[in-house]
Parts: sequence; structure tokens; C-alpha cells
Amino acid sequence: MKKLLIILIFLNLVSSAYPESQESKLSKLQPKMMVITIHFLAQAKKAFPKYKLFLAETYRTQKRQDYLYGKKRTWTKHSKHTQGLAFDIYFVKKGRILEGNEAPYKELGQIGKDLGLTWGGDWKVRDYGHFEYKEK
Ligand SMILES: [Zn+2]
Repeated sequence: MKKLLIILIFLNLVSSAYPESQESKLSKLQPKMMVITIHFLAQAKKAFPKYKLFLAETYRTQKRQDYLYGKKRTWTKHSKHTQGLAFDIYFVKKGRILEGNEAPYKELGQIGKDLGLTWGGDWKVRDYGHFEYKEK
């Protein structure tokens, strides 16, 4: 019952083009990260009502991480994605995916940081759409 409620709240937050795939991405996160992600999406939607927000990637197998590393599409072999503790998000406006330098990712980064997440936009190799769980 609780899980159903969480999913219903979530579906109301993400854009509805592919709700099933969005839900399956959410459900691959660890529960503690799932809760933070929903809070994050709620605040992001409130702050940017004119943008559509999508989860791009959440959980990633180590095999995929190694593949991305081999293709130089990530700088690390050790990602929180492989633990279900990270998500990537992107904005769509008027049917177009927005790049990190044009969308309000900086404000989004602050929303994530206020929720205790680490934001990829602060890294040396900037990853504006990336947020991950910070161990306390
Ligand atoms: Zn990421």
C-alpha cells in the first residue's frame, strides 16, 4: 500500500511520456534514495513548472559501468549508480533536451544539495544532471 502511494505520487511528478519506464527506474533505487528522489522531483517541479523532468538513469550494473568507462563516457569505475544510490536527470522544454549550460541545472543542483545529495555539477568533470547519495 505504501509502495503504491509512493508510485502514484511519483507518477504525478515526472512527465508522462513513458511513465512505466520512469517508475521502473525509480524502483531500482535503494529505498532511502527513492524517498530523497521523490522529494527532489517534487521540489524541482515546483521550482521549474515550465520544464519537463525525466529520470535518465538510476541503477547501473557494474558491467555497464565498466563499458561506459571503456568508452570514456564516465571517469570512474566506481559509481554510486552501481549501488542504486544515484540518478541522472534531464530537462525537456518544447520537446528538446536541454544541455547543462542552458537549463537551470545550477538551481537544481542547489535543491539536491539542500536534500543532502552530492551534485555532479560541483565535480571537476562536471555532470550537471547527476545526483548521488552522500553517506553521513
Ligand atoms: Zn550519473
